[in-house]
Amino acid sequence: MTIVAYSYQRFSSLDQIGGDSLTRQSTLAESYARDHELELDNRLTIRDLGVSGYRGQNAVHGELGHFLTAVRNGRIAPGSYLLIESLDRLSRSNILQAQNLLTELILAKINVVSLVDNRTYSEASLTADPLALIFALIVFIRANEESSLKSFRAKQAWIRKRDSAGTQVMTSRVPDWLIVCKATGQIVARSERAEVLSTIFQLALDGRSPFEIADHLNARGVCRWRGSQPWTRPTVSTLLRNRRVTGVLPLYIATHDNGETSRRPIKLLADYFPRLIEPEAFLKVQALASTRRRGGNAAKLNVFANMLFCAGCGAPVRHHSYGEYGRAILACDGARILHGCNASGFDYDAFEIITKKQLSRWIHDDLPWHQVSDPNQHVFRAVQELSDLQSSLSPRSPGGAKRRAGATFYAEVAKLEDQIDDLIFNEHGFNAKAVKLTSKLAAYLDEEIYENTVRVKCNMLLRQLGARLVVDFDTGWVGLSHNKGFERSWSMEENP
Ligand SMILES: [Zn+2]
Repeated sequence: MTIVAYSYQRFSSLDQIGGDSLTRQSTLAESYARDHELELDNRLTIRDLGVSGYRGQNAVHGELGHFLTAVRNGRIAPGSYLLIESLDRLSRSNILQAQNLLTELILAKINVVSLVDNRTYSEASLTADPLALIFALIVFIRANEESSLKSFRAKQAWIRKRDSAGTQVMTSRVPDWLIVCKATGQIVARSERAEVLSTIFQLALDGRSPFEIADHLNARGVCRWRGSQPWTRPTVSTLLRNRRVTGVLPLYIATHDNGETSRRPIKLLADYFPRLIEPEAFLKVQALASTRRRGGNAAKLNVFANMLFCAGCGAPVRHHSYGEYGRAILACDGARILHGCNASGFDYDAFEIITKKQLSRWIHDDLPWHQVSDPNQHVFRAVQELSDLQSSLSPRSPGGAKRRAGATFYAEVAKLEDQIDDLIFNEHGFNAKAVKLTSKLAAYLDEEIYENTVRVKCNMLLRQLGARLVVDFDTGWVGLSHNKGFERSWSMEENP
């Protein structure tokens, strides 16, 4: 029976790939295998490229971890050889971990060979020469010190570089709107891009969404800085969040804990880049964006946000607060961004008034949500009663223990209610939950005062019911579909 040898080739960083490290290790492994009449298994060559041995990543996650697993579940036969250029390649993490790794391999009946000094570590060899274990330990200690020092030096060099920033350009990589002047080494703005940047921030300050800003730039034929694609919502919002526009250079430092690398900012270097946007304006834009992100903002402008689609091309239809004559319009993405659809736009306010009335009619006349079939009627009533009970039981009432008891009861009721909701349906497929949603929606749609919170709730309820509106800009027809298949359509010409 031939004994198999596996060669463990590791690179502490990708930089070494170009070097002769791989060739050297392969040659050493081949000649060792030849000399000792071992069969070198090249199929299972373990190359965890780029996984650094220092920080112990390769023991936990890397190929050596896989190797150990393969030994444990018998895929690698006991008595096999693991050929390593030098023991310090095994692991540069802390000494205990490195030693543990070696011990685990040996206990799994693997012969670990250090090729540079031709030492074999096995149960037999260590029993014969226990001092060899001390030797291995010394190798680990030295390797660990060496790489700590290397890591420390690299960090120091970067810190020095950072401290001298301001007097010299730290990196030739500058944001897209800037350029490093070859003659002087100064960072300067590209004037036409600086202009675009200021337009983008001005529009954002005016309350325009990144989507609308992208739209604005595309409509005016402004080219994107990279690639030939049109401006998009993500490209604009990334720019709006980039604090480098105020001239600041954020400095990061990489830290390593438990094999995890993370980057954290350590300071902001002011006036490193040319300041194109005033910090006050930048902060104002951030504040505006965070209110937008908190959600529901789209629905404040457009009650039908995220549920409108173009009948011509199927693309989403969106609200634009600056249509012709400064009026809000609804327009199809296909027409405004991709230019593949020739749908025109609708005046938003008129659309909202008509659609609201149509939806209200739909709920009251067409939708059989309140038509409860008899066997279930008492259950519906029970749900209603539970729901009322729930609202009367405020967990905010005073008294700690009482409040906690109240909260528990409240949660129990809610759970029970949910269970009932899931169980029952009326004959049209409306369960109690859908009935509640719909009755709320009906109340909102009929409300005269139409505050933002109501608009947001209305939008949420409509979407929960699966309502979709398809808008035909050519004929003025609007079609409503619903996830239970109750459809309705109307013309924008007739005002109910
Ligand atoms: Zn379209």
